[in-house]
Amino acid sequence: MYDLVVVGGGPSGAICARRAALRGLNVAVVDKATFPRRKLCGGAVSPRVREILDFDIHSALEREIGVAVVYSPHGQRIVGVLPGVRGLMVRRERFDHLLLEKAREAGAEVFEGVRVVGVEQLRSGIRVLGEGDSFNARFVVGADGVNSVVARAVGLRRGWKPDYVGLCIAADIKLPPDIVESVTMDPETGQPAIELYLGAVKGGYGWLFPKRDEVSIGVGAKMSSKADLRNLWHRFTTDLEQTKGLKLNLSGRSAFRVPLGPPDGRLTRRRCIMVGDAAGLVSPVTGEGIYYALMSGIIAADVVAEAVKRRNSLHVAEYDCRIADEVIGELRVLRWLSNLIYRSKDNMERACSLAAEDPVARRLAMEFLIGLRPARAVRWELVKRLARHYPLRSLRILVS
Ligand SMILES: Cc1cc2nc3c(=O)[nH]c(=O)nc-3n(C[C@H](O)[C@H](O)[C@H](O)COP(=O)(O)OP(=O)(O)OC[C@H]3O[C@@H](n4cnc5c(N)ncnc54)[C@H](O)[C@@H]3O)c2cc1C
Repeated sequence: MYDLVVVGGGPSGAICARRAALRGLNVAVVDKATFPRRKLCGGAVSPRVREILDFDIHSALEREIGVAVVYSPHGQRIVGVLPGVRGLMVRRERFDHLLLEKAREAGAEVFEGVRVVGVEQLRSGIRVLGEGDSFNARFVVGADGVNSVVARAVGLRRGWKPDYVGLCIAADIKLPPDIVESVTMDPETGQPAIELYLGAVKGGYGWLFPKRDEVSIGVGAKMSSKADLRNLWHRFTTDLEQTKGLKLNLSGRSAFRVPLGPPDGRLTRRRCIMVGDAAGLVSPVTGEGIYYALMSGIIAADVVAEAVKRRNSLHVAEYDCRIADEVIGELRVLRWLSNLIYRSKDNMERACSLAAEDPVARRLAMEFLIGLRPARAVRWELVKRLARHYPLRSLRILVS
């Protein structure tokens, strides 16, 4: 019997397995895919990810990026730079493969190409049922993404509410490196930038993210916005082709769902813990999920290690407390912001105008969005600044 079986070897599962193995547990990771596997994603990773990993990810980096450009619905251009802060751009095939290899290196057994179809409670453990194989464990971590089989099997969730899940259409498009540089170059700073187009989609945004020899292009919106995403994708990519003077090969596009936090119920049941997308831990403003996947995987591993040490399966409930403190509080603040800015295109425009005019508010908003400082503190500073300097315009955002 394993101490821990992790279902899903994406970022949340791989880091959880590594951490648990390093803490001396006997761990298995089961994934339906064979790595390196494709994963639809913008691949923008916030700088704080470096601080929570215990190994170097340099080999999986496409580039570092120091500039973000946001286009308002009316085409206002806001350039965001935080001196000394650089985001990381990755291709998920390589990044996720590296993480899974790090789990293997730490001693976790990795089973690839095994689809999990359910879990069964045992008297003193839990059985993970795979197609062909099954795995007995003291504890299970569900890291199997937005369509989690584990969450359904243990009765933690049936589906997502439309306001708590987004739909994205995206494609990774190969381009020569010099073209990637030139189409994403920000003339103000002379550096390539990630670009976010707030007006492209009702209740969401379009993006253009540079990698080394490809770009990620996509549109995404909350399901509740009922946006006609296929049409918006067509319009967005046609506009990009025109403004950037490019012909894009869009044949590799696909659609995927992304949960949008914070989750509202418990994330543990009996001997089972949910992490990452399977738990719904994604920013509802930006769609950033990799950081939260890693954080939750690390916390889950620590809680399971403690439960094994104490021989107390009830200890898994500690995960709900720690995740509430360390992750969900921040996602609640981000939900508040997302409800304000995605409410209407007018509100997006108002928020962009304030950010364009006021460099302090712009800096605070960026620190808030990429988690450089505790969200609650930054929210408070931002609200105070806007209320003091732009009372009427702030009020309009709040009440419109
Ligand atoms: C279009 C798009 C763009 C995004 N862009 C960004 C971005 O730029 N930055 C960012 O931070 N986040 C982004 N995200 C979110 C990010 O991709 C996720 O939050 C992150 O992948 C979560 O990691 P995870 O390990 O929880 O789940 P996943 O990465 O989804 O991994 C789940 C793993 O479980 C496996 N699995 C699933 N079902 C089973 C089963 N039944 N049996 C066995 N294995 C199974 C899968 O094969 C997969 O390997 C984006 C998401 C989308 C959809």
